[in-house]
Amino acid sequence: MVMNLYGLQKTTLLDFPGRVACTIFLSGCNFRCPFCQNRDLILTDRPTDMEASAGSFSRPPAISEETLIRFLKKRQNILEGICITGGEPTLSPDLGEWIDRFHSMGYLVKLDTNGYRPDALNRLLDRHRPDYIAMDIKAAPSRYAYASGTAQVDISRIEESIRLIRQSGISYEFRTTTAKELQSMEDFRSIGEWLSGAQAYYLQSYQDCETLSGLHFTPYTEAELNAAAAVLRELIPNTFLRGI
Ligand code: SF4
Repeated sequence: MVMNLYGLQKTTLLDFPGRVACTIFLSGCNFRCPFCQNRDLILTDRPTDMEASAGSFSRPPAISEETLIRFLKKRQNILEGICITGGEPTLSPDLGEWIDRFHSMGYLVKLDTNGYRPDALNRLLDRHRPDYIAMDIKAAPSRYAYASGTAQVDISRIEESIRLIRQSGISYEFRTTTAKELQSMEDFRSIGEWLSGAQAYYLQSYQDCETLSGLHFTPYTEAELNAAAAVLRELIPNTFLRGI
């Protein structure tokens, strides 16, 4: 089976709500979010001029299927779940078969996605039934192209993924990495109206680091994020701050 596996975090207590899990990282992404911290994971072997000028990158060595399965067998009595993240995991052609395989080993599966491949997501939700979905909401609709690093974004694809996830019957969260250049305070209200009544919504703060674009962003203060969360809770009662 083909899965572009380039990273393994052996234990996480934070990524899969309520579960002790590991996280696997798949390479490649169809977005180029300027604040992305995973440049080594998402760039192809031939980055664009803009990407190359933002600094060097070195993809970590791939992890073999055998290594992963050996690890998972050893941890079967310790770990409850596997978080699949990226990059954008839905780009991996055999992701559904991997989810089935992880389930057959007794693991729960959490899937992260940017929601830009609703057809692939629909197949995964329908046939392979991950146990938890976390979808990024990059920005309010009017600023999505900038926040996702795409010249033009087809917002209907994001909306379709939101709809599919909400109707799937699978536990889910939406989440946003926040920074002043990415969302204004007014944008948080727009996002709240967009996702009104969602099961759970998390605001995460941008942490300064080397980014894909070479740009640096301005995090909101804790007080500002609390104010944004208060506005959001009028529309999405289960709004939380994460890691702040
Ligand atoms: S969706 Fe954006 S933040 Fe996530 S891996 Fe792709 S480029 Fe990076």
